[in-house]
Amino acid sequence: MITINFERLKEDIEALSRIGRDPLGGISRPSFSKADLEAREWLKEKIKAAGLLLRQDGAGNIFGRIEGRGKTVMAGSHLDTVINGGMFDGSIGVLSALECLRRIKEEGLRLSKPLELASFTDEEGNLAGDFMGSRAFIGALDRKMLEQGFTQIGPPLSEILKGTEFTIESITEAHKQRPEIEAFLEIHIEQGSVLETEGVSIGIVNGIAGKHYRMCSFSGEASHAGTTPLELRRDAFLGLADFALKSTRFVATQHYGSMVTIGKVNVRPGTFSTVPGQVDFTFEYRSTSKETLEELEKSLLDLTQEVASTRGLEFASRVMDKTDPVKIPSRIVTMMKEECEKLGYPFMELSSGAGHDAQILSSVTEVGMIFIPCVDGISHSPQEMINWDDLEKGASLLLSLLLRLAS
Ligand SMILES: [Zn+2]
Repeated sequence: MITINFERLKEDIEALSRIGRDPLGGISRPSFSKADLEAREWLKEKIKAAGLLLRQDGAGNIFGRIEGRGKTVMAGSHLDTVINGGMFDGSIGVLSALECLRRIKEEGLRLSKPLELASFTDEEGNLAGDFMGSRAFIGALDRKMLEQGFTQIGPPLSEILKGTEFTIESITEAHKQRPEIEAFLEIHIEQGSVLETEGVSIGIVNGIAGKHYRMCSFSGEASHAGTTPLELRRDAFLGLADFALKSTRFVATQHYGSMVTIGKVNVRPGTFSTVPGQVDFTFEYRSTSKETLEELEKSLLDLTQEVASTRGLEFASRVMDKTDPVKIPSRIVTMMKEECEKLGYPFMELSSGAGHDAQILSSVTEVGMIFIPCVDGISHSPQEMINWDDLEKGASLLLSLLLRLAS
């Protein structure tokens, strides 16, 4: 039986983690930064050294391929990180796929279907909203959004692209270079604490939550904190406080398992002696069910109106992004369970509250996701850590799935 070379995979993950070390902690490797460009060259060298066919599309997605006939069996994830992120998010998906293909190549196995590892650009959404690379890959990017959208790291995208071989044009055309895909598999850290709590090494993902993300505001009237009686105030902050509690209570009691989060708040004018006249905030909600997500949209927006009218405020909001929930095909889930049983790995099914490249690819192919635990559920942090044994199991499972799908 062919097995992965786990020591080599571990060395790769450690070597990659030295690219983009941030003096303030962790790894800062947003797509097309100096560190990311270095990581890309590093990966390309690894692909070439493994004897795989190196390919890159117009969005900077990088592929390593073993030829075959028919549709391509693909596995991968992303190499970019959030600012001060960890060394396992994304990287284990790309590098486990690399290790699997490298072993298949070394053994000279002749499989019937082509195999490809994929590293997608800007999964973390530092440049133009989440999943730029995989969205370009499936042809679901809006050119206007790329031209006008803001980036999380300062300059506009067109400016950032000047340091690269890519253009907005090449990004929007990238999907034309996509092969027909049989299935896409992604191994990823859970970024939560379910697996660790249950003491299980392998999570078989059965669904990925969809997300609606909005920029919102309540506006009332700024007035003197000493002279405006409480009952005459139009306090925008109190509107938000009211909404935050009521919306959380609503989701917790009516749609337990779905999420609602207000992550960023700006109170204006923001002085200690003035009643807040306006509050701007980000607002997102998630669910693994499309119907629930639609129901949340309606009920939560109704709730903003109720709060606004009670407190004499105006409410406004703008949709920033929407992703649909994904149900993983039962063919893939069943296959994963069977392979876990053959390998003797304990596993459990779970859903993913976080979005992933696999979610985006689900509109062009069947997808599957393997989760491994991360210590204390911590991710997007320099403290992100795994137990290496879990990764060895996850990567071995990936290899057996790739062999099965490509045979
Ligand atoms: Zn990730």
